[in-house]
Amino acid sequence: MARPRHAAQTRSHERNAPLMIYVGTQYFRAPTPAPEDWERDIQQARAYGLDYFRFWLMWNWYSQREGQYDFSSLARLLDLCEKHGMKALMLTNLESVPAWLVKKHPEAVYQDETGGLYWPESVGNTPAGGFPGLCFHHKAVADAGRDYIANLVRAFRDHRAIECWEPHNEPMFEPGRYNSRFYCYCAETVRAFQNYLAAKYDRIEALNANWRRNYGAFDEVLPPRKRGMYNNWLDWRAFAVDSLMASLEWRIQTIRDNDPNHYVMIHTRGGSGVTRNLAKEGIDDYRMAALVEKYGTAAFPQCGPEHEYFIAMAGARCAAKGKEFWMAELQGGPYGMGIHRNDAEPVCEFCGSSTMEATIDKKEGVFDPGEVTPERLNMWTWSGIAQGAKGILYWQYRNESFGLEYGFGLTELDGSPHARLEVVRAFKQVLSRHRNLLDGATLPPCRVAMAWDPRNDIVNWTAVGCCDAVKNSIKGIHKVLWHGDYPIDVLRLDPEFIPGENFDSYDAVFLPFSPFLDSGAAARLRAYVQQGGTLVAEASLAQFDDTMRVNPVVPGAGLDELFGCRRADVRTMHHQLLPAIKIGALSLRARMHKEVLKPLKGARVIGRFATGEPAVIENRVGKGRAIYIGSNPFIGYMVHDDRGLLKWIQKLLAGVERHAWTDKPDVIARVLVNDDAKIVFLLNTQSKPAAATLAVPVAGRKTPTVTEIITGRTVMAKPEKGALNLRRRLGPYGVEVFAIQ
Ligand SMILES: [Zn+2]
Repeated sequence: MARPRHAAQTRSHERNAPLMIYVGTQYFRAPTPAPEDWERDIQQARAYGLDYFRFWLMWNWYSQREGQYDFSSLARLLDLCEKHGMKALMLTNLESVPAWLVKKHPEAVYQDETGGLYWPESVGNTPAGGFPGLCFHHKAVADAGRDYIANLVRAFRDHRAIECWEPHNEPMFEPGRYNSRFYCYCAETVRAFQNYLAAKYDRIEALNANWRRNYGAFDEVLPPRKRGMYNNWLDWRAFAVDSLMASLEWRIQTIRDNDPNHYVMIHTRGGSGVTRNLAKEGIDDYRMAALVEKYGTAAFPQCGPEHEYFIAMAGARCAAKGKEFWMAELQGGPYGMGIHRNDAEPVCEFCGSSTMEATIDKKEGVFDPGEVTPERLNMWTWSGIAQGAKGILYWQYRNESFGLEYGFGLTELDGSPHARLEVVRAFKQVLSRHRNLLDGATLPPCRVAMAWDPRNDIVNWTAVGCCDAVKNSIKGIHKVLWHGDYPIDVLRLDPEFIPGENFDSYDAVFLPFSPFLDSGAAARLRAYVQQGGTLVAEASLAQFDDTMRVNPVVPGAGLDELFGCRRADVRTMHHQLLPAIKIGALSLRARMHKEVLKPLKGARVIGRFATGEPAVIENRVGKGRAIYIGSNPFIGYMVHDDRGLLKWIQKLLAGVERHAWTDKPDVIARVLVNDDAKIVFLLNTQSKPAAATLAVPVAGRKTPTVTEIITGRTVMAKPEKGALNLRRRLGPYGVEVFAIQ
């Protein structure tokens, strides 16, 4: 279905033609900020360069009685926005159910795997109560939610302050956002699951063959409650993701049916699907991005080491498949305002590393989350632009003042400007000054990709109760390439997406820890190598076949022929006991597995464990090569930088094009292009000053003009051997942006 060209449509009537890059912030979420502050806040925010405010429109806040809605306060807020030229992002929120609906339909209260009920209540992100709502497998609940959205959208679709709609905040399996439980096990959900299985398998014998069970009929089948078997969990979680997508579809359809003239966007939880646990949270970026016109991800960089939000941004950007992509919640200030939060999210030993709680409670010493200084906020902001984001939306304008989610504000507690708000103003001024350069700027194509099948999250979770190995392998691959200034794309290997993924433009593709890889993905990877690609994989690749049986040959699905090796033996070992891997003069740290490899004919052993056994095999196939590592060093790199691994990867990728790079791993170079101009971002991701040499390849003999656009200073530089080499000194979290033309 052709959708209207919203950006042009919604912006044309504004007095001053706005930037293509959106700059805004979250503002109202009941009950704060207080109505008496609204006009002053809007005026001040406009004066500081913010053009967009997001509102969370809580269902229970606007519906006190069945069939009644009172939007008068919201109308006043939007009128004030219009008066002062602020545009509103309207986030409809059903995870805040009205109390009258809970009273009327107690059977629809979400149920966890132990039979425990989640009675709607206040939580950090829903201070006014009603979280997590009720289970949408109950028709009366879905109907009531649809009615709220329809009434809300009809009430404001013609309001001139409206920019767009959002159907859900950070869609995920909501009841589990703040606890370790799985949902939902209510009678309606179980019935829907049985219908799903009947549609998928048709005959009960087919389900029995897959699950290795002996059921007589579909209505005997119950969802799994404990870990123990892969197949039923894969179906149970696939059903849950389908259910989440179905709920998004009817929310979005209700918006579009009632307002065809404004676009719909979704932003995902910080970390996005690529770093979060699919089994627990159900965040599938690709499927969500396909439903809407724009996509984004939250970024709370203080929740993890700085490299982590880069891979999350890459995951969301690639899921958007060329649609406009936003840094849709950028942490605007520090978390916590003097009292420790006690609603800790579930943290498993490794995969919780992307949560704030992991930083504070479990991961002390791994990294220092530090302060949110104005300089650091500035660096985060520019890093969003450097990664191709067309919108920067801060979380949030004022500090939250009710409930458990303190902090994050761009202002002081009384709403007056903090130094961080000055950063936003200065950033906006640079954007405005250089709009011709930045508006149309795009990311040059990535030459390197990471390809994965998210079902490995479910497999890993079923095996051990967390998916740390998969997530840390993904983050580790990204981190080593980030240190080497190779921006990456994120590709999907599950059957629904692999036909649409184009591997041909990549010089190298890395596979994270993937014990499950189906035969379709294996065939596609084989074709990629034959056509000239470099493919790198970690231990235990394709250990399971398409039915989750352990393959008699590992790697399975014919990948032994591709990689030129087979597993001879495998041990899971503590990293302090694992022998190092020797590749030439380099020593690499092994992690998690010692998988001893048997090389096949024609393949070459290029690395050995310090104990002597083959550890790394290279196989030339067609025009390309496949490299198999009999351990999981990328998981290790996530935790400890391993200079041996970084050097080896740099050697492996010698000759792969980079658009800019530095000689310091933690000083990151990123590039956008706009016609003949290159925009080069130099980002010091550390709290200490750094000196680095920035290298930018240039074509031809002409000496280009180099301007640092934040300060407006011209930088003198002469190309040598086809590259500009700029020696730069950066302060803590310093950032420079060079226009080279
Ligand atoms: Zn349910």
